[in-house]
Amino acid sequence: MASMVDSLWHGFADMGSVVANGRFVVARGAGTRIWDAEGNEYLDATAGLWFTNVGHGRTEVAQAVADQLTKVAHYSGFGDMAADVTVELADRLGDIAPVPGSKVFFTSGGSDSVDSAAKLARRYWHELGKPEKNIIVGRTKAYHGMHVAGTALAGIPVNREGYGELMPDAETVDWDNAKSLLGLIERLGADRIAAFFCEPIIGAGGIYLPPDGYLDEVRQICRDHDVLFVADEVVTGFGRIGGSWFASSRLNLEPDMVTTAKGLTSGYVPMGAVFIAPDVAEPFFSGGVWWRHGYTYGGHAGAAAASMAVLDITERENLLDEALRLEGDLAAALSPLAELDTVSEVRTGLGAVTAIQLADPAEGPAMMGRMRAQGVSGRVAGQGALQISPSFVMTTAEVDELADRLKTALTF
Ligand code: PLP
Repeated sequence: MASMVDSLWHGFADMGSVVANGRFVVARGAGTRIWDAEGNEYLDATAGLWFTNVGHGRTEVAQAVADQLTKVAHYSGFGDMAADVTVELADRLGDIAPVPGSKVFFTSGGSDSVDSAAKLARRYWHELGKPEKNIIVGRTKAYHGMHVAGTALAGIPVNREGYGELMPDAETVDWDNAKSLLGLIERLGADRIAAFFCEPIIGAGGIYLPPDGYLDEVRQICRDHDVLFVADEVVTGFGRIGGSWFASSRLNLEPDMVTTAKGLTSGYVPMGAVFIAPDVAEPFFSGGVWWRHGYTYGGHAGAAAASMAVLDITERENLLDEALRLEGDLAAALSPLAELDTVSEVRTGLGAVTAIQLADPAEGPAMMGRMRAQGVSGRVAGQGALQISPSFVMTTAEVDELADRLKTALTF
């Protein structure tokens, strides 16, 4: 499993520890399983980093990308230019957006989407003659990627450490208490606050479901105070929550903007997108406003082709319903693990997402090793939460197999 460490610098890693202990090298994937460089098989409990929603090894997606690259790999998405497949994908996404008729701004990933939405929120109020309305509000436990705005909004304090102030006018409120947002708005004034960023489920910060009523309350507070509500659905978008394409749809949030990536292409190639509700897009579409923002690879033709194929598979195989089926399967198979001494809580109940909370969060790194030894490729999110977020193609029998392997790993 371990290999010689040479040039590769990993993200989110203590490289000293990687050098000392070796890396985990993935050589192949098929469905819900991956194989390491030595041929050992693992159940992929996390769908990579929350992205392989349609499962590994889909030749249909690879073929769609190859066909597109052969036609034209990409061109430019600036000014009046776009590849045909990019235009087609945007229209398809506009149709399934949580707010019908949303405009779609393509990016290269989730961090791009978050920073684009933060800039767009400020620019929107600027266009409406309110340039002082520029504070962006995030939450404790939040993860919004690692570009400048996303890092400034990081609710996991260590993720902000050591960079100084990256973005002025970024504020943080409690992740689970709507009164905290209301208090901030009353203290600073609604005329100063541009947008509130909110993950429907706290992901990297420890996998916490929203408290009952919380999302409705913060949504209404934003409406009442003219604060843009931005749902960060990089993790929850494209079916993870089950039953709908977006958590915002299932939970009826009607966001002003939605940031996405990951499931958009199932991670086969990098791509992100921001959905912008029609009334927020309007000032930019009525003529005379240039939004001087964009990415060379935003809407990349090959990525757009991958996304079209992923959307086809999702529809054809009813994967939104499968994610809902997994909500029940994961709860049934994994909730009993809460009885183990090493587990303090199992959080389930919203789509193909479960957290197994370790009684001792310090056991997290060692648990990764124990899981691998039992044939599970997993991940420990904030504060010792084992992330279970499989591909939507994981069968009920495979969920039981995963639960058995996890039980052994957690019994020590
Ligand atoms: N927003 C959320 C909620 C995320 O979970 C992530 C990544 O995990 C991001 C943004 C950043 O996405 P990326 O890593 O593609 O830049």
